[in-house]
This record gives sequence, C-alpha cells and structure tokens, in this order.
Amino acid sequence: MEQPENIIQVHDLRKSYGDLKAVDGISFGVSAGEVFGILGPNGAGKTTTVEILEGMRAPDSGIAVVNGIDVQKDPRAVKKIIGIQLQSSAFFDRLSLVEILDVMASLYHRQIDALVLLRDVELDDRADALFKELSGGQKQRFSVASTLVNDPILLFLDEPTTGLDPQARRHMWELVQRFKSEGRTVLLTTHYMEEAEELCDRVAIMDHGKIVAMDRPAALVDSLLSRGFQKERTENLANLEDVFLDLTGRALRDE
Ligand code: ATP
Repeated sequence: MEQPENIIQVHDLRKSYGDLKAVDGISFGVSAGEVFGILGPNGAGKTTTVEILEGMRAPDSGIAVVNGIDVQKDPRAVKKIIGIQLQSSAFFDRLSLVEILDVMASLYHRQIDALVLLRDVELDDRADALFKELSGGQKQRFSVASTLVNDPILLFLDEPTTGLDPQARRHMWELVQRFKSEGRTVLLTTHYMEEAEELCDRVAIMDHGKIVAMDRPAALVDSLLSRGFQKERTENLANLEDVFLDLTGRALRDE
C-alpha cells in the first residue's frame, strides 16, 4: 500500500537573525492525524519554526511543505487549511466574542455558528463579553476557538497552556485530544514535559536551532534508560498537583 504523504514535511530549514542561527538546518515530517510536539528551552527556535510553517515568516533556505503545498510558494493556500492561534493583542477590543469570530470567519468567506465554536471551548455563556473581560484561561480557550473558524485540518498551537492553572491546563489537553479524535493534525510547542507525554504521539526536542532528538515520548525515555541513565528512586503515589486538584476540583474555575 502506498504510504500516505506527510501533512507537514520540512527539509533543512534555516533562519538566522544576524549572527544568531534561530533555526539551524532542521528536517522532520508529521503524518496526518498526529499530535506532534516541539519541545525546547527559551530561544530554541520553536516559534520561528512554527511561524515559517504558517507562512508568517520566510526562511533563509530549506523547504516547508504543508499538505502538499510549498509554504514559500503559496502561503495563502496554506493559511486556508490551517488554524493559527493569534496573539491576544490581535483581537479587537470593542467587539464581543461572537462578533470577533464572525469577523474572522468572514475573512475566510465562511459561514459559522459562533455559538457552537464557543460551546466547544465552554465559553458560550460569555458570548457577549469583550475579549479583555475574560480571565487568562478563558482568553486562551477563546484563542483556540478562533483557530477553528475555518475548520482547519491542521492546527498550530504555540504554548497553548502557558500561564494556565491545573484545571484549565487539563481542559486544554482535552480539547487537543478532541481535535485529534476529529482527525485533525496538531503541532504544538510546549515547555511542559508532562504535557508532551500526555498529548504528543511524537516530539522533536530543539536546542539552539537544531533538533537534538525526535521520537515517541516513551521511546525517548527507553533510549535514555538503555544508555544507562539512572536517577534516585522515589515512589510518589501522589504529588502536589494531585492535592491541589483534590482540594479544588477538576472543573474549570475561571468564570
Ligand atoms: P520561547 O520558548 O522563549 O518562545 P522559542 O523556542 O520559541 O523560544 P524563538 O522565538 O523561535 O524561540 O526564537 C529563537 C531565537 O531567535 C531567540 O534567540 C530569539 O531571541 C531570536 N529571534 C526571534 N525572532 C527574532 C527577530 N524578529 N529578530 C531577532 N531575533 C529574533
């Protein structure tokens, strides 16, 4: 049987800012339906990579192909099929959540039911609120809802849970899992290893612009152990997060 083409294929991508090699010759592929994580410390080049894939930033060299489209050659075609999480500053201050989604959908020439999208992220009861009136977790959820206005086959989520409380973080994980179950591909960046283990089918670990490891999370752990890695054993049947969630519940608390 013919191998399905990767929905993302990147070959020897490079991007420098002056002397700084932000992305230094990376290559990887993501297959359709995968949740793929790019992990790495601050400044590793994750956002630059994602922005090149979104057609928002031009690489110096290398090729990025999304769903068979060369991003450099036809960024508009790519933008039609992907969901991009905007920075919160990009939202209109004077419009309600429903109005913002309607405006965004009209940019894609799409008819949407904004309330359905808001329900997806449990914000339908804030439909008439302004973006600036939302809590941090609600803003993050709204920005995820906004990525869905064009019913994308591929979602880019750049640090979707940074700054969220444990309940809101878990809720975001459920959303990502739902996107996967709907057959969408998700590429996310994160600083949280627990998040990557929970969500990602495969991860690429980036450092100084290069991919230093790429595999399934469990395979990366096995490979570390097979190299003789050991750490002091501690058996924790629960941790502080479990205590926190036990005391404060798992329901969203940012209303
Ligand atoms: P973080 O986890 O902090 O978001 P990151 O892995 O996403 O980091 P990038 O934002 O891609 O990293 O940045 C990679 C490097 O390129 C950093 O050293 C950053 O300072 C630099 N950089 C990014 N954008 C620019 C720019 N427009 N001009 C100059 N340098 C930049």
